[in-house]
Amino acid sequence: MEKPAIEGGSPIREKKLYYGHQFLDEKDYEAVEKVLRSDYLTCGPKIGELEEKLCKLTGAKHAVVCSNGTAALHIAAMAAGLGQGDELITTPITFAASANCALYVGAKPVFADIDPETYNIDPESVKAHITDRTKVIVGVDYTGQACKWDELIAIAKEHGITTIEDAAHSIGTLYKGREVGTLADMTTFSFHPVKTVTGGEGGAVLTDSDELHKKLLLYRSHGITRDEELMEAPSDGPWYYEQVDLGYNYRMTDIQAGLLISQLDKLEMFKSRRKELVKRYDEAFKGIDGIIVQKEIKESDTCRHLYILRLDLKKLKVDRRRFFDAMGAEGICCNVHYIPVYYFPHYKRLGYKKGLCPNAEALYEEILSLPLYYGLSDDEQSDVIAAVKKLTEYYHG
Ligand SMILES: *Cc1c(COP(=O)(O)O)cnc(C)c1O
Repeated sequence: MEKPAIEGGSPIREKKLYYGHQFLDEKDYEAVEKVLRSDYLTCGPKIGELEEKLCKLTGAKHAVVCSNGTAALHIAAMAAGLGQGDELITTPITFAASANCALYVGAKPVFADIDPETYNIDPESVKAHITDRTKVIVGVDYTGQACKWDELIAIAKEHGITTIEDAAHSIGTLYKGREVGTLADMTTFSFHPVKTVTGGEGGAVLTDSDELHKKLLLYRSHGITRDEELMEAPSDGPWYYEQVDLGYNYRMTDIQAGLLISQLDKLEMFKSRRKELVKRYDEAFKGIDGIIVQKEIKESDTCRHLYILRLDLKKLKVDRRRFFDAMGAEGICCNVHYIPVYYFPHYKRLGYKKGLCPNAEALYEEILSLPLYYGLSDDEQSDVIAAVKKLTEYYHG
């Protein structure tokens, strides 16, 4: 049996691999340069062009692009009317922003547990956490796999709750043949460089509702409007605008929008490569005793953002930390997505305690994220698979 590098053997590769990396090409560079040479660096024509492109791509009626995925969640929570005394239900296995958007508006995040096999929020647990204060459900399509949206939306409708799909991982995914973006009342995207398409930073909220759309536009830009219908006084002249509510400067620049328009042209290409890589990982790991492969619901045609390696710790005589370090020693730098949100000191101080979501907590102990990105070559992926095989064989109980 081959000795892992961490135990004194030699590593599978010298040059490190990381879990994610953006992919940009000449067209992206040209698109950005074109904006830089134009009249508008912000509030220009690229914003509307990108919004139209997102609508076309997803089938959503409206898109509002903004500075990042966190801002998108914030204005979506505001548009939903979430505020003091209200509750927002979400999963703990997510980036903190999915829950922080409740705190931003003075509401309380409530954590529902995950399904132990798909790792997405469990609709039964959501049901169990609904109170007369629940106003919003944020379903996170963790790793890119769509949540059980029919069930979540049915629960929400029954109780008059607004649904927000945090689709930071799931651009390009279809649920029952429908593109992510038209399922929930609002859908949010993130365009951070580790995500499937990037604008450097960037975000968007999609909705079919005219009413929510108007609110999102206001909150994106200070609560300021030039729309006569929304203004309270008659116009005082061509320069006139009003601040009719309190919003923020969450605008995206035209530089980012230009890059994103170009990146979205490559979505199909990104998607098919990611699918190929996931299929190959799944097939390689299905046969390994000691590895649990994430279950996929048949309704989700998934464009995966993350590949989660789950260790069956009952079968391995190693813990996640040692396995993680051992992967690093082989030249594969993994990551962990995610630490349950309520473990963080800020949440502890708000009164959240361990034990809230047993399935989520168990998952956290056993996972690491493997390299998954468009530019990952077949040979590099072979090294990742070889490292996992080497370690699981060595550490098998
Ligand atoms: C990345 C991410 C966000 C936040 O997006 P930013 O663009 O980084 O602000 C929100 N939710 C999830 C699930 C994410 O992965």
